[in-house]
Amino acid sequence: PHHLRDLVTEQARERPDGVALAAPGRPALTFGALARQVDEAGRRLRGLGIGPGDAVALALSTGPDLATAFLAVAAHASCVPLNPAHRPDEFTHFLTGTGAKALVVPPGDDGDAVAAANRLGVPILELVVRPEDPAGVWTLTGAPVGRSVPDDQPGTRPEDVALTLFTSGTTALPRMVPLTHTNLLTAAWNTGRALELTPADRCLNPMPMFHAHGLTSTLLASFVHGAGVVCPPGFDAAAFMDWLDEFRPTWYTAVPAMHRALLDEADRTGRGPGGAPLRFVRSASAPLPDSVLERLERLFGAPVLEGYGLTEAASLVTINPLPPRPRKVGSVGVPVGGPVAVLDPDGRELPPRDAGEIAIRGGNVTAGYAGDPSLNEAAFTGGWMRTGDYGYLDQDGYLFVIGRAKEIINRGGSKVAPAEVDRALAGHPGLAEAAAFGLPHPTLGEDVAVAVVTRPGVGVDEHSVRAYAARRLIDHKVPSRVFFVDELPRNTTGKVQRVRLTERFTPAAR
Ligand code: ATP
Repeated sequence: PHHLRDLVTEQARERPDGVALAAPGRPALTFGALARQVDEAGRRLRGLGIGPGDAVALALSTGPDLATAFLAVAAHASCVPLNPAHRPDEFTHFLTGTGAKALVVPPGDDGDAVAAANRLGVPILELVVRPEDPAGVWTLTGAPVGRSVPDDQPGTRPEDVALTLFTSGTTALPRMVPLTHTNLLTAAWNTGRALELTPADRCLNPMPMFHAHGLTSTLLASFVHGAGVVCPPGFDAAAFMDWLDEFRPTWYTAVPAMHRALLDEADRTGRGPGGAPLRFVRSASAPLPDSVLERLERLFGAPVLEGYGLTEAASLVTINPLPPRPRKVGSVGVPVGGPVAVLDPDGRELPPRDAGEIAIRGGNVTAGYAGDPSLNEAAFTGGWMRTGDYGYLDQDGYLFVIGRAKEIINRGGSKVAPAEVDRALAGHPGLAEAAAFGLPHPTLGEDVAVAVVTRPGVGVDEHSVRAYAARRLIDHKVPSRVFFVDELPRNTTGKVQRVRLTERFTPAAR
């Protein structure tokens, strides 16, 4: 398919009774019913005055209704899915930045998104889902946004923007990433092919579908290959074990923080994956410590594939291959589609094992950020998109991510990638987690510090943490300060926000 509309129609034709979407406590939705819903929603959107090219924001919590709403809006207009947990100012930024024509919310919602939309004069559409309706058709209610859009008006083209996502804002303000039908379908096809997805597959997807991981790398990658997705209302380690039993998925995907929570749950309760054999487990969005990968493979008896992706690529850039091809622990694998290069500061490609900035190219990659042209000058050069991540390729073409350019700590001229320090401490028996970060230093410029969360029942002090690091890292990478915290600051996708640690532990200027 070249258009999201065709994706749904083609799957409905080929497997009308195949299960597309499932969720705890909800009837399963087949590809046939999904296509009917998407069509019907398109008609209602047009009736409300929303048509091709109009941006429609969604503030819906994750789950099957968000999946259907995304497809309906993206197929007939242009979709901006937002995390409903954002703050009013963030909604204002998202709604104005995308020029949203309407905001879709659950019935009776009077949260921050609605407040922001009201202030900006953006019409609200309530999404009413009627499970008693045999086709499960959902209803958009609201005053017309403009004049009803005629059916014969030309629709969107493959090169039109279907989806606008915001980066997760780990290092800076979220950037606005427009993605076309072509970007999305290329990304989804490549990702699903790398995972060898077929209609026999079913993914348990605890990732929220307002970011690339849950939406494009999971939902779309599955649908393009005729596979189904289970979309629970969020992540909960104990409930997850029940969902494994109930839905018998063939794979699941998560960020490292969730994998850890599952391991802890299994350790605490002795529960495991039940009878459902998984084909593989996927990890992406943040570095997966080797020790977590090894424990996961033991628990699930399945290969754990670590991948690397970014919003700008619409989905995954690389992933470790399925057996029999070798997966390399510590690597994020091989390209799923377009080429990956490592560039020096002048934009020249570096040979294997030389570290530099990771750059990508391909039909999946966004044409550029919206809203801030200055970002594009820096990121799009010589046909490549520079990712802002540092890493290297090995002689077999496997990519290793060292860390983010912006997070690199400059300790008196020696560069320290904080992720490398985290990795070195990941095996410490007394630590549940560690996150290194930079602190201002009067003579060095920056110094290396680390925030750690200890495991209950194991005594750990600053000295033991530093000694453990010193046995594994060259001197200038060993943290000089250790801070004990109850939990690490994370964004909504579960990524550690080092900048918040720097803010918290920088002594106030006198
Ligand atoms: P922002 O750009 O707004 O600060 P973000 O970079 O987290 O947020 P996303 O597009 O959500 O925005 O995430 C992509 C980034 O996540 C990548 O650029 C990379 O830094 C990181 N990442 C993804 N997968 C991995 C991985 N397997 N290992 C290490 N880092 C990863």
